[in-house]
Amino acid sequence: MISQNLHMHSTWDDGRSSVEEMILASRDAGLTSVGVSVHCPMPFPNDWECPKERLEAYRAEVRALADKYAASIRVYLGIEWDVTAQALDLSPYDYVIGSVHEWPVSGYPSVDADAQTTAHCLDKCFGGDADAAAEMYFAELDKVAAREEVDIVGHFDLLTKFDEQHGFFDENSPRYRRAAERAMERLVSAGKIFEVNTGAISRGYRTTPYPSMQWLHLLREMGGRVTVSADAHHVSGVTCAFDLAEKLVKDAGFGEIWILEGKEFVPSEI
Ligand SMILES: [Zn+2]
Ligand SMILES: [Zn+2]
Repeated sequence: MISQNLHMHSTWDDGRSSVEEMILASRDAGLTSVGVSVHCPMPFPNDWECPKERLEAYRAEVRALADKYAASIRVYLGIEWDVTAQALDLSPYDYVIGSVHEWPVSGYPSVDADAQTTAHCLDKCFGGDADAAAEMYFAELDKVAAREEVDIVGHFDLLTKFDEQHGFFDENSPRYRRAAERAMERLVSAGKIFEVNTGAISRGYRTTPYPSMQWLHLLREMGGRVTVSADAHHVSGVTCAFDLAEKLVKDAGFGEIWILEGKEFVPSEI
């Protein structure tokens, strides 16, 4: 059974439950450790970041709650860093998730806000060339490899969030495959752990986690490492579809997931 979730949000960013509620819900769901991974401040207007001036108070609250509940659940202090937020001190955190949530073009259109934004962006920014959008997304994700403090690669193929309903991207097109493979190779060689992220399942967009099965198989072949996470934004999602994620990880040939224990990530048999 999966006993840890390192990817969750709260009312410090775009989550709907408080940190304390998320910790208690995780404990009640049987987890023995959790991490809070606040969205970092971004250089463009958005409704999901934690502003820079609030980060210190965020850290203080998570540390205080970690002490308060130390007897029943271990709480780690994390952050979800985005490659577009280059200048940020990541040293105060126990671990870092490295993600890409936007295309680095005019207005920074969101990769995962809603299907209309994706449709509009593919049309206006990429002239309908979905492979070009995928190439740009994975080139951004590739930059996570260069950021030493990052432990975990966030939602590897986030851009496919709406594909079950809308089919924006073709994962089997040669250009998409090449872009994704190149990023994966670089991230694996940099020692990053890939999360198997169930967040879009809890919000009803997908029936399977990121990354999709073909990438999970390839990751296994490359000798990559995985962890399982919920990307929860509400108490109802703290262990969403963890059984499914565990099954898919096993089906892809992994015998272990990596979990944070103190200051190190260690393998945990599944
Ligand atoms: Zn994210
Ligand atoms: Zn997240």
